[in-house]
Amino acid sequence: MTTQMTPGSGVGSRIPGAFSGTALRTDFPVFDRPTGTGKRLVYLDAAASAPKPRRVIETIADAYGHHYANVHRGIYELSEDATARFEAARATVARFVGAASPREIVFARNATEAINLVAYSWGRANLRAGDRMLTTQLEHHANIVPWQQLCREVGATLDYVSITDDGRLDPDDLRAHLANGPKLVAVAGVSNALGTINPLTEIVRLAHEAGALVLVDAAQSAPHMPTDVAALGCDFLALSGHKMLGPSGIGVLWARRELLEAMPPFMTGGSMIIKVTLDGAEWNEVPYKFEAGTPAIVEAIGLGEAINYLTDLGMDAVREHERYLFEQAWAALREIPGVRLLGPDDPAIHAGVISFVLDGIHPHDVATVFDSEGVAVRAGHHCAQPVMQRYDIPATTRASFYVYNDTDDVEALASAIRACQNLFS
Ligand code: PMP
Repeated sequence: MTTQMTPGSGVGSRIPGAFSGTALRTDFPVFDRPTGTGKRLVYLDAAASAPKPRRVIETIADAYGHHYANVHRGIYELSEDATARFEAARATVARFVGAASPREIVFARNATEAINLVAYSWGRANLRAGDRMLTTQLEHHANIVPWQQLCREVGATLDYVSITDDGRLDPDDLRAHLANGPKLVAVAGVSNALGTINPLTEIVRLAHEAGALVLVDAAQSAPHMPTDVAALGCDFLALSGHKMLGPSGIGVLWARRELLEAMPPFMTGGSMIIKVTLDGAEWNEVPYKFEAGTPAIVEAIGLGEAINYLTDLGMDAVREHERYLFEQAWAALREIPGVRLLGPDDPAIHAGVISFVLDGIHPHDVATVFDSEGVAVRAGHHCAQPVMQRYDIPATTRASFYVYNDTDDVEALASAIRACQNLFS
């Protein structure tokens, strides 16, 4: 393994038990690439998609080169090898999220598809005219639009928990909506637009007391902190591989087995059946009932290796590392006049995502100036337009940290802001 966990250099030296972001950069080939301006790449856009460690890239190349055939069908050694690696990745994902069994892990294309699977399959079988379901104003569009479509189609009502001025879900509003008896609560673990870490344990407890199931959109939480569906007690959880150092094209739906057993298939075709006659078909067992067609074989194997990489670092250490960087960055940015920071002030409930607005400068201009400094950030509505509407802004600039970032990157962020302000003053 190439992961370096040497204490004594970079930010790691100041975090007990954690690793060095500076040292870890050598694991990621993208940091060998010169930027257009010749400056060092300061990658602060993990919330959109994360770079891949060499280990993951090599695993993907090796899987295509030496272990590739279709899975679950060949009666020959190569296909059995590919199937074993694909299923081992499913078991790795199951351990990573605390699932009771790999059978509770459904591979999808991304978090969006995993959420749509629940909306189409569970939603259309269980939600009726007059029913209610609940999501929140701080969700990514992936956790809003599928529910809007579902509710429109079946005649149900979709409610939204509102956001406080400092970017938290309003607990009183949550309780008030739960009193209306929603059948499902769909909520993000971490907001991609504000960085807020939602109190999932409390939300799940209250939702279950109110008789609702809970879907967690873990696209922004699973890559950055421990996930344990058993401890959390939620019912569905969705994540995306590409945000957690894995390949694009692979996502995961975890659901309690009895829910998966009872749900009708989302897509139909090959692999998801046991028997087909001209009169009809019998579904395969879970999770295969939900994996129609040839799956993303190598992508799943690559995701398994990305999880191995993260597990080697330790998810508690990943969270600690990002919390430290968040605290440094938040403190630095708060000192700069003309910077409006969004989201909670409390590092205990703020992930390594900082959304901000510079007075009088459009976020797209900010990101363009940043790019000339070698600093890659995201500018826009972050697929969370209701959040922008809540704060009456068109867009924000968003810096998001991951394992390979360090305090030099925090300084680069602060100095890019100053460069931008100087340019536009
Ligand atoms: N939910 C959240 C909170 C996200 O940040 C994202 C990606 N930005 C998604 C869902 C959707 O992920 P994907 O595009 O990989 O399906």
